[in-house]
Order: sequence, then structure tokens, then C-alpha cells
Amino acid sequence: MPARRIPVFDGHNDALLRLHRRTGGDPIAAFLDGEEKGQLDLPKARKGGFAGGLFAIFVPAPDRKAVAQGSGPDFGGTPSPPAIDPAEAQRTVFAMVSLLYRIENQSHRRVRVCRTADDIETCIDDGTLAAVLHIEGAEAIDANFEVLDVLHAAGLRSLGPVWSRPNAFGYGVPFRCPSSPDTGPGLTDLGKALVAACNRLKMLIDLSHLNERGFWDVAELSDAPLVATHSNAHAISPHSRNLTDKQLAAIAESKGLVGVNFATSFLRPDGGRDTNTPIDLIVQHTEYLINHLGEDGVGFGSDFDGAQMPAELGDAAGLQKLVQALRTRGFDDKLIEKLCYRNWLRVLRRTWT
Ligand code: ZN
Repeated sequence: MPARRIPVFDGHNDALLRLHRRTGGDPIAAFLDGEEKGQLDLPKARKGGFAGGLFAIFVPAPDRKAVAQGSGPDFGGTPSPPAIDPAEAQRTVFAMVSLLYRIENQSHRRVRVCRTADDIETCIDDGTLAAVLHIEGAEAIDANFEVLDVLHAAGLRSLGPVWSRPNAFGYGVPFRCPSSPDTGPGLTDLGKALVAACNRLKMLIDLSHLNERGFWDVAELSDAPLVATHSNAHAISPHSRNLTDKQLAAIAESKGLVGVNFATSFLRPDGGRDTNTPIDLIVQHTEYLINHLGEDGVGFGSDFDGAQMPAELGDAAGLQKLVQALRTRGFDDKLIEKLCYRNWLRVLRRTWT
């Protein structure tokens, strides 16, 4: 008898960014009908048991050369990417929100934008792809949080104050390995007010791209469980994007969650981008995080369409290979179900209600 498939609700993907950046063709059809390139679309999701997840809206820098050169502030080591113009960010955010709703509208009920944990549970039960709107980097948000209110009304349920670049709300963590996540100043006063505004709206605050001081700012201010949607264990991969044991202890204390990231550079001890990275390394981070956060504090945050994946996993269609690797490691199906979706449902329900 073939092993039972276990659905996966995932903490982070950049499929909307991939579709937004497409030149030519129909991005909606590209998602619904699938295409060769990319790591996540509806057919790949169905094949791998990808039941849904946080769909990130990310505003790319207009000038890729500026990003490569890094014209942002430098707190030692590699400079951060440059800041983004808020008006430009708003245009891009609205375009990507619209893109997700057009996908839902044209999906014949195969995709649903979810606003509650019950919505997600219903989708998992009936096989509808559950999409939750998330913003990675709050550049589009104004100082009065009016845009935040509007985006919340439009379904936004999760927000990272910064991506790995500075904005009005704080300083993101630059990509470095090996490096401590303690790379510079944390949240600005406006960033601290944003935490309060998110708490008021019961919107999830994502810690993943904050540096360590920003992390502690949120930990001190927020009344919600602490969640890093797509980060790994610094003890295994000493990347600035990963979480130290001290940070994990704070997440555990808040009954929060970490979504294990499949990006090879955040998995590997050498921080290298190398597709020749075994699925077992995902399992090792998962096991380490369980030891620090407990069985209820760990989920997945793939970074599909936002990072280089281990070749052995491939893309969303390969997710049951990860499920199988967890079984091989000796995890029982009850624990695997927690890791694959129940823990995400628990922490989202706690945060949103
Ligand atoms: Zn990210």
C-alpha cells in the first residue's frame, strides 16, 4: 500500500513575484494551468500535496544593478540593498494583490484567498488551494497605517515590517554567511507603532527578515505569538537570516512558530547556494527546531519561487519526498501532520482571533 499523502500548508512562497515579473503571456493561466519554469503553480501544488500557504507580496528594486552593488546603509560587511520608494511600492503591492484575486476568480473554485484559520481548514478538507496574503517589507504602508487598514480589508493577514533592506520601519538583515543576525539597528519608532497597529488588526508579524535587534523589538512589544515564517537554525547554518538559540527560546516562550526554509543557502553549514543539498538537511533543521520549540512550534516555509531549492526536492511537486524523509527519520504521522499543517493552523488561529 502506498504511504498516505499528507497535505502541506506552507509559510512562504514568492509565486506572485514570479508571475508579476513575467514578460508576455498570461500570468493567471501560467499559475492555474502550470508551466515548466517556476517552483509553484496549481498543478505542481496538487501533485505534491501543497495545500496552501502564505503568498508573499514583495516589491523588487526597480534597478537590479543597484541591488547587486548594494547602495543601502552599511553596518559592516556586505551593504544592504537600497530602499524602495513608497509610491512605487504601493503600485506594485496593489498589482500583486489584484493578481491573486484574479487567480482566485478564474480558478473555478480551485484556489481561495483565506482570511481565517477556518477558511484554511475547509480548503485543506476539500482540496482547494488556500492562499493567504502576506507582505514582505512594509514600504507600501503609510505612517498613519491607512493603507494597512485597506490592505487588511482586502485580505492581508501577515506582514514582515522589513525585507532585507532598510525602510521607514526598520533595518532588515542583510544576507551574509557566516554572520550573526545582529547586524545593526532594529525597528524605528514608526516600526514600533507598526507592531501595535498589526496587533490591533490581529495581523501576523513575520520576524524572518528582521535583524536581531528588530527581532527583540517585536518580541518586547507584540502581544501575539512570535513567528518566523521562513528561517532556519543558526546552530546548523550560521547565516544572518537564521535564528540563534536565544531567539528560538523567545519564540518557544511565546508559543510561536518557525517555518523551515528550503533555500539551500539557509540550510547548508557553509551557506552556499548549491542544488546538491540533501532533503535530509531540511529534516535536520526540523529536528533541531523541534528540540528547541517543541512539537507544536515547527512548520515549513519553503521559499518556493524565491530561492534555490535542493535538487532532490525540486519544487512543490516534490513535497511528499520530504514527508517520506520525515518518516524515514522515524517521525510518526501524527507529528508529521503537525509539522505539515496543524501547527500553522494553531498559530494562525491564535494570532488572528
Ligand atoms: Zn523572504
